Formats: sequence, C-alpha cells, structure tokens
Amino acid sequence: MSEPGIEKRLNEPGQEKTLAEQAPSSYECRACGYVYEPAKGDNQGNIAPGTLFTDLPESWRCPVCGVPTSQFIDIGATGAPSGFAENLNYGFGVNRMTPGQKNLLIFGALGLGFLFFLSLYGLH
Ligand SMILES: [Zn+2]
Repeated sequence: MSEPGIEKRLNEPGQEKTLAEQAPSSYECRACGYVYEPAKGDNQGNIAPGTLFTDLPESWRCPVCGVPTSQFIDIGATGAPSGFAENLNYGFGVNRMTPGQKNLLIFGALGLGFLFFLSLYGLH
C-alpha cells in the first residue's frame, strides 16, 4: 500500500474510461422507470442486443410508455462484472470506495491493529 507508483497509475482517469467502454451505460426512462440495457437491446423495437443507447434510431420510443429518447437519463453501467474494478480500487483512493469497501478497510485496519497489539504483547 506504500507504493506511490501503483497508486498513481490506478487513479488515472483513463482507467475509468476503459471500464466504461467494457460496460456501456444503461439508460432509464424518467417517465416510467424502464431501463434500456445495451447488452439486451429491445426486442419489441427490433433493436439488436449490443446496440448502444446513443446508437438507437431517433424514432425509437420507450417500449413501456412511448416517450422519446430525450426522456431517458444515463444511469451508468448495470449488470456488468464489477469485481475487477472493485479490486483495482480496493486499498487505494478512499474517496472512490463504496461504503462497503470503506467498512472493509476500517475493519481490516482494526484487525491489523489488533494483531499488531498481540505481537507486541507477545514480545514482552
Ligand atoms: Zn417509459
């Protein structure tokens, strides 16, 4: 954890872009909550799986309530394998960690402190 070179590399903005490319954003309909997932496409609208939301035809409408694409908001990648990204962030850059990861770090630090205390106790 004390290797600044590694921390710097992992925190470069480019890392996020790569992950975003691996998992394209899903978009949620603000009117009804329908979520367009690029990996699934839209059967009803003849949209092939793998089609990015930004590549949808202008004529595409929400299959549930019929609003245009302008009524959708980017909610980021969903259902994508995230273990890799979480592992990258673990132990580095606390600001980017999820609450769960922060808890892991806190309890991990407590555990390390306890072990350290035990080792000192053993020496005396
Ligand atoms: Zn809708």
